[in-house]
Amino acid sequence: MKTNFKFDNSYTQLTSMMMSKIMPVKVKLPKLVLLNHNLAKQLGLDFSSLDEKQLAELFTGNTLPEGANPIAQAYAGHQFGHLAILGDGRAIVLGEHITPNKQRYDIQFKGSGRTPYSRGGDGKAALGPMLREYIISEAMHHLNIRTTRSLAVATTGENVMRETVLPGAILTRVAESHIRVGTFEYVAIKRDLQTLKKLLQYSVERHYPEIKDLDKQAPEFLKLVMERQIDLITDWMRVGFIHGVMNTDNMLISGESIDFGPCAFMDYYNPKTVFSSIDHHGRYAFGNQPSIAQWNLARLADAILPLLHEDQNKAIEVGEEIIHSFKEKYEIKFHEMMKRKLGLITDENDDVILIQELLDTMEKNNLDYTNTFRDFMHGKSINDNLKKFHDKWKIRIDKQNRSHEEILSIMKNANPVIIPRNHKVEESLKEAHKGNLVSLNNLINALKEPYIERSDLTLYQQPAHKTDKKYKTFCGT
Ligand code: AMP
Ligand code: MG
Repeated sequence: MKTNFKFDNSYTQLTSMMMSKIMPVKVKLPKLVLLNHNLAKQLGLDFSSLDEKQLAELFTGNTLPEGANPIAQAYAGHQFGHLAILGDGRAIVLGEHITPNKQRYDIQFKGSGRTPYSRGGDGKAALGPMLREYIISEAMHHLNIRTTRSLAVATTGENVMRETVLPGAILTRVAESHIRVGTFEYVAIKRDLQTLKKLLQYSVERHYPEIKDLDKQAPEFLKLVMERQIDLITDWMRVGFIHGVMNTDNMLISGESIDFGPCAFMDYYNPKTVFSSIDHHGRYAFGNQPSIAQWNLARLADAILPLLHEDQNKAIEVGEEIIHSFKEKYEIKFHEMMKRKLGLITDENDDVILIQELLDTMEKNNLDYTNTFRDFMHGKSINDNLKKFHDKWKIRIDKQNRSHEEILSIMKNANPVIIPRNHKVEESLKEAHKGNLVSLNNLINALKEPYIERSDLTLYQQPAHKTDKKYKTFCGT
């Protein structure tokens, strides 16, 4: 079977306790639902010689591409604050595909059967959540936000039992790697210093080669992971993305967004927004995401503590200093980001106040986060409640003496027109369940150029009805 997959399996060289070799469980009646041709091309893959049936066999794991050496990875994680031993309970990494320009990507199946880490789970995934991950991850990518990607979704012809009986499916996920904060926590729990060193070295070589020759790698590594996370969370806050389960096992060392379970995009601005049905206390609410990221990074610091300094007290000092710098670094990035959203190029003392005034006004009046910024760009139909702010903003904009074009182009790249609105996502999933893929494919296409206004796509710009505020998302596991 010709696919151009070029596997190299460097992860399998790590200590054996970090993984289990395991084959995907064969499925009954494979059927391809989505194939991401653009991504395949970017990865240098070629499926043109395969027919429908062969593609379906390939993307369910019924036939393995040459060179694959499947493993389930072991990891731990703080889930809603509590540490647990986890691991890929329903995922299998086929191997690392090396692209023609020598980039390395994990190719992973999600939903391909039980593994030694499945605990009570069935190792399977339902079609809805896998399509959801496909939609959101691709939307994130086109929003220019670091993310794992989705290469394909195929159904298995088998049922999975959740609250109801659902069609089983497998997602093929592509990631720079699947090394998580929780991977480090796992090795730390095992108290195996040699493996911890090896994992650090490996992660540095794979994701932060710029520090691979440093003597004291661990503190620099922590700082670099933190920087990527700050950039990532800033991007999430820019587009109103709520991850929903920011457990440490869902935070990647590479700085990509991962695991789009109960995530959703916020319509009406409110930092307390939570969609996830299991997040009863709002731990992962929109406005909490920066401080949770910091908390997760502190867990990474804990895990690599013996590598931060030989002396434990010094190690704690080093770790704390880095983790404490998060807040200031994040606030700078957040401020710069908000300035771009408002087209502010120069600096004024009152910018922080101005930005806060806008956020407060949006919150108080239930204004749509995405559309509010876009409306500013055109000065059109400014909501009555925003008039006062809008006047101030106009004065501030005029003061900086920059061309209209320059200001607009900055705002345009910071403010999406189209995000995957919850009601649109649900509508397309509902249709897909009935076997109709038209609205799913239309949505995926609409999300491909999210910063460009198109008159034929205005339907995708509408927030849900205000009565629809009780929208809930589920893990689907
Ligand atoms: P997630 O919520 O997808 O990040 O998963 C958290 C943990 O639960 C991971 O260790 C998963 O592998 C595991 N898990 C989720 N769903 C299943 C399932 N259906 N069967 C086995 N393990 C699962
Ligand atoms: Mg996960």
